[in-house]
Amino acid sequence: IPPAAAQDRKVMVSIRDLSKAYGAVHALKGVDIDIYEGEVLVLLGPSGCGKTTLLRSVAGLEQPTTGTITVRGQTVFSSEHNLSLPPEKRNLSMVFQSYALWPHMTVADNVGYPLRVSKVPEAEVRERVRKILDLTGLQQHALKYPGQMSGGQQQRVALARALVANDGLILFDEPLSNLDAKVRERLRDELIAMQRRFGFTAIYVTHDQVEAAALADRIAVMQVGEVAQLGEPEAIFNEPHSRYVADFVGCVNELSGTVAGWEGNHLAVDTPVGRLLGTVADAPTATGAPVKVMFRPEHGQLRDGPVNGPNSFAASVEQRVFLGSHVEYRLRIGEGYLAARSMSAARMEDGRGVTVSVDPDVVRVFQDAG
Ligand code: ATP
Repeated sequence: IPPAAAQDRKVMVSIRDLSKAYGAVHALKGVDIDIYEGEVLVLLGPSGCGKTTLLRSVAGLEQPTTGTITVRGQTVFSSEHNLSLPPEKRNLSMVFQSYALWPHMTVADNVGYPLRVSKVPEAEVRERVRKILDLTGLQQHALKYPGQMSGGQQQRVALARALVANDGLILFDEPLSNLDAKVRERLRDELIAMQRRFGFTAIYVTHDQVEAAALADRIAVMQVGEVAQLGEPEAIFNEPHSRYVADFVGCVNELSGTVAGWEGNHLAVDTPVGRLLGTVADAPTATGAPVKVMFRPEHGQLRDGPVNGPNSFAASVEQRVFLGSHVEYRLRIGEGYLAARSMSAARMEDGRGVTVSVDPDVVRVFQDAG
């Protein structure tokens, strides 16, 4: 169900009951997603969850087994009607991980290529290419060949080529994953700025949760061919519906426990570190039921001294790692470990006994399955 604000918006891409089997492997299992005009929808998930297959199905590079895809209200794929438009008839552009530039063409010719294929008059091609090279900061590279440019610059050319066609819909397949960290972040931020400026709709595949959070209006987390959760980044990160989603977006602290009962809006769970209150995600709530309690490293508040205060327990510092902007602590609790993050400069040295407190609202309680 789309968020209320999105309900009046026009649907750009509609994916209905889409499945794809490669022999016995079910890469997609009945996927339903609407992508709205002007939105960036990120497909996020681990290797093999089907995100590339879904993207390539929208592009027309992959033939789904069953289902329907419409773009701007026009059916581009329908298994029922035995219809599948070729990629060039779908009015969309694609940016690949591998850049996919023509090595024997200059930057200007690469960018102009889709327009020339569409038989746009030569004077107009030149004008549109000049404009887009200006806007993407590539004008001084117009006469270079891809082999003479860095990876980041080549990917900027691929983006310019996607923008010049002005289709309003761009599909991105892990476009930043071949670049080193610094270039990747810069290009990511440029991409956000370009999207705001041009207002194109994007479907963007990545396995990087930080990239997903930065770029997405909504994230679809995929799990073996299905959408596990679809929502705004804040909801995905702070209110994961399942242990799978929680784990994938970095909610790494997990304790086993049994349900003790309700305390107001929160579920009390007995864990090896004592009784903790949390918020029910998909957990059973009957007293005695086995559950998993999870919270994010940055949600554990660290303090010196003996345990006091609500939702607190004792731990000892196993290792302190300074990471420039913050400190990561590896904490020992009985037989297990937890991770906590602190922005504070106060040093809690290895071996020190500390108190960890977590707000019950950010502690998620999940079923124990799996
Ligand atoms: P990655 O990030 O590694 O590309 P992904 O989430 O994009 O992963 P897909 O590439 O869509 O996943 O693959 C989904 C499933 O389909 C996987 O189990 C994969 O092995 C299988 N698969 C993909 N392409 C083919 C193919 N051409 N033939 C057989 N199986 C395939």
